[in-house]
Amino acid sequence: MVSPHRATHKRETPMPFLELQNLQKTYPDGTRAVRGIDLAVDEGEFIVLLGPSGCGKTTTLRMIAGLEDPTDGQIVLGNRNVTHLPPSQRDVGFVFQFYALYPHMTAKKNIAFPLENIGTSPSDIDATIDRVARALGIEALLDQYPRQLSGGDQQRVSLARAMVRTPDVYLMDEPLGTLDAEHRLELRAFIRRQQLALSTTAIYVTHDQEEAMSLADRMVVMEGGKIKQTGSPPEIYNHPADLFVANFVGSPGMNLIDGQIVQHEDGLAFTRLGANVHIPIHLRVAPPRAILGIRPEFIRPANRGVPGKVVLGEYLGSHAYVHVDTPLGELVMHAPDRFAIGESIHLRLDEGRVCLFDPDTGMALARSAGMKDVKLYGRSISQN
Ligand code: ATP
Repeated sequence: MVSPHRATHKRETPMPFLELQNLQKTYPDGTRAVRGIDLAVDEGEFIVLLGPSGCGKTTTLRMIAGLEDPTDGQIVLGNRNVTHLPPSQRDVGFVFQFYALYPHMTAKKNIAFPLENIGTSPSDIDATIDRVARALGIEALLDQYPRQLSGGDQQRVSLARAMVRTPDVYLMDEPLGTLDAEHRLELRAFIRRQQLALSTTAIYVTHDQEEAMSLADRMVVMEGGKIKQTGSPPEIYNHPADLFVANFVGSPGMNLIDGQIVQHEDGLAFTRLGANVHIPIHLRVAPPRAILGIRPEFIRPANRGVPGKVVLGEYLGSHAYVHVDTPLGELVMHAPDRFAIGESIHLRLDEGRVCLFDPDTGMALARSAGMKDVKLYGRSISQN
């Protein structure tokens, strides 16, 4: 299934397989959709572009596909500068959210179509359709026409049609967008398995952070036509480069507390005006103000720590999100079980998991201060 074309691109040098260099797009009406993107993608990598609506994800993908002409910058694919080449001269496979099936063809004919177009032999077509149909659980649908299929089944057939080919790059724009939760999970796993089995490079666009984290080798978080951060899902989740990423990734997002850095006991500590709580921080130099970020799962109930009162509980079966009113503000904690509304508890923050941000720039403090060792002392909470 590996195309001869792809085989010539096998990386013998450290050159990236796909490179976007200062890629920009301004539409004729003046909208600056993409404002200078640099990205190097290795062969076989699964990259997810993640960001809110309007941040330029689709425009970026369409420029890689050749469906949109960049205003500036370059696209290099497999050592070829393809920046201004038409789509037909780039070996990309585009999977859209809505991928219309040919109504007069059976599901099987629809899936076979792109393979027939590139002259694949009938026996290879049959073998490929068998494999993909089995993976997608659509064997029983192959002789049916699109009008006889449910929406979810039509989407599975269109996905099969898009993924029987092995282009240089799969470009996928919210391909699961319209599906119900159950089908989304199923097809998400199919896409990843298929991509892994064929080692095809993939660029996938979504605004769903959970989908992005579950699929990506590397995530590219975008906002306002720019890249905010690139990294593996754990890097992005645990070390967000700024407040935007901290908030956008994770559900619910990170707890963010606006406060001060003060001298306390042996060193510096984070506190909030009027709150009799100090969280020691392992920084020798810090600005007078900071935003402390901590994810809900790194807060847990304890005998001592930050005092608080439960104000809301969201029970989700395997766990609960418990909102607790504390002197540091309302904190959301990921708890194994429910708590009664009004219950008084204490919270312990996992000191190794705290992030600090500069309130003026929004940037992670460790990065902007050039310090890698932002962490709290073992004894995290002191109350006096
Ligand atoms: P979504 O998830 O909503 O599709 P996106 O992140 O993919 O958002 P784009 O579709 O790339 O974002 O759009 C980026 C910006 O460019 C938006 O402000 C959008 O309105 C604008 N835009 C997109 N296409 C055009 C166009 N053909 N003409 C003018 N502006 C456009």
